[in-house]
Amino acid sequence: MENTIAQKLDNLLKLQEIDSQLDNILKIRGDLPEEVSDLEDEIAGFETRTAKFKGEIDNLNATVDSLKNGQKDSEKLIAKYKDQQMNVRNNREFEAITKEIELQELEMQLADKRISEAKARTRLVEDDLSNTQGILDGRKEDLKTKKSELDVITGESQEEEKGLLAQREKQADKIEPRLLKSYQKIRNNSLNGLAVVMVQRGACGGCFNVVPPQRQADIREHKKIIVCEHCGRVFGGVEMPEPAPEKGSKR
Ligand SMILES: [Zn+2]
Repeated sequence: MENTIAQKLDNLLKLQEIDSQLDNILKIRGDLPEEVSDLEDEIAGFETRTAKFKGEIDNLNATVDSLKNGQKDSEKLIAKYKDQQMNVRNNREFEAITKEIELQELEMQLADKRISEAKARTRLVEDDLSNTQGILDGRKEDLKTKKSELDVITGESQEEEKGLLAQREKQADKIEPRLLKSYQKIRNNSLNGLAVVMVQRGACGGCFNVVPPQRQADIREHKKIIVCEHCGRVFGGVEMPEPAPEKGSKR
């Protein structure tokens, strides 16, 4: 069965009511959820950086180890060559071995240079690591504080939010998908989250522009869905002014 326009508007108004309550809950939480997720992103970034620094330090240490091992090998070779020099048969052999020894000594000097370069680089990276680690620790502390603040605020409204979300789902089911989609679209574009408003004291309840009397009469008729020509919000109806209290009325 097709809903009448009046029913459609009534359903939209009820949905708007629930959504506005949900908006209020989110407003109380304020920027905290965003601050928490920003901090989490930042922390992830710093953790990537510290992991990168640690990886580089490991590589540098491995380089130093292998250079030192190379130097030990050179030392052994030099000792071996010096033994061989004791037993040479001629000058030519002696010279050849001397050249080998010089080559190994050169290798050892080169390794010394590379070791001290690697150690200097390690100290730099260690400084970067400890600075980054310091910032990271601070951010983690901030996150802990913000998260517990958020938990307290969320805890207070969690049950209410759950209830409202369940109500919202039921209410949204009563509205045809196309209408629900445009409701959602208007709501997303609206700073105060209002997609359905009443005409209040002759003006749009969303943008406060005057709604001409003829248009108000059309809205009251419920023959079709009428939107505000200024802000595009759906008019749910026309609010009747509250009757002024009678003068001298009996209590
Ligand atoms: Zn308007």
